[in-house]
Amino acid sequence: RLSKRLETVASFIPRGAVLADIGSDHAYLPCYACLHGYATKAVAGEVADGPLRSARQQVETCGLSDRISVRKGDGLSVIAPREVDCITIAGMGGALIARILSDGKEKLSGVKRLILQPNVGAERVRRWLLEHDWELIAERILEEDGHIYEVLVAERGEAERPYRHLEAELLLGPFLLRENNDVFREKWQQELRHWKQIAADLAANGQSEAAARKRRELERKIRLVEEV
Ligand code: SAM
Repeated sequence: RLSKRLETVASFIPRGAVLADIGSDHAYLPCYACLHGYATKAVAGEVADGPLRSARQQVETCGLSDRISVRKGDGLSVIAPREVDCITIAGMGGALIARILSDGKEKLSGVKRLILQPNVGAERVRRWLLEHDWELIAERILEEDGHIYEVLVAERGEAERPYRHLEAELLLGPFLLRENNDVFREKWQQELRHWKQIAADLAANGQSEAAARKRRELERKIRLVEEV
C-alpha cells in the first residue's frame, strides 16, 4: 500500500497524464500512478545511485518497464521539453523544490500541472509559483506517522490569484487557511510554540546583530500566524 502522503499526491494526477516524478527514490509514486490509471506513461528522475537502483528494481517488479523510464539526473534535466504534462516533486524541502523548478524552467513548457509536496518550507514553493505565473488551485494538509505534510497543486495562469492577505497566505496556504481543519491548527500551534521558544532563547542569549535579525523575523511570523 502506498502511504497516505503519496496517495494524496497521486490523487491530483489528471487521468491519462504523462508524468515526471522528480526525486522518485523507490518510484512508488509513478508505479502507483501507472497501475491505477492516473498516468499512461512516466519518467522517474533520480540524482542518487542508491535510489536510482531501487527505482529500476521497483519498476521491473511491477512489470512497468515499458511505461516508466527511470533516468539519472538533477531535477528536470531528465526530461525533454514537452515530453510530460504533469510533474510531481515530493518529500523534499521547499527551497530545493523551488530550485529544481527554477533550474528547469525551460522544461516546463507543455506542463499543465505541478503537484508539489514540500516536507518543510511550503512558503518558498508558494512564492515561486506566484512569481512564475503558476496558479495554486488546491492544497491538502494531512498527518501520517506523527508528521504533518502539505500538498500543493498548481496550474498555469495568473488569473484570480487566491491570495487576499498575501504574506499570511503565502506562509499558511490560502486554501488551507480557509479550510482551517484540525491538522492545520495543530501544525501552526506546534510551529508557534517552537518559534516562541527559539525567540525566547535568542532574546536571552543572542547578542549579535544576526540573532536580533532572526528574532525580528520570527516575531514577524508569530504575529502573522496569530493574527489569522
Ligand atoms: N519522492 C519520494 C517520496 O516522496 O517518497 C522520495 C523522497 S526522498 C526523501 C527525496 C529523493 O530526492 C531522494 O531519493 C534524493 O536522492 C532525491 N533528490 C534530491 N535532490 C534531487 C535532485 N536535485 N534531482 C533529483 N532527485 C533529487
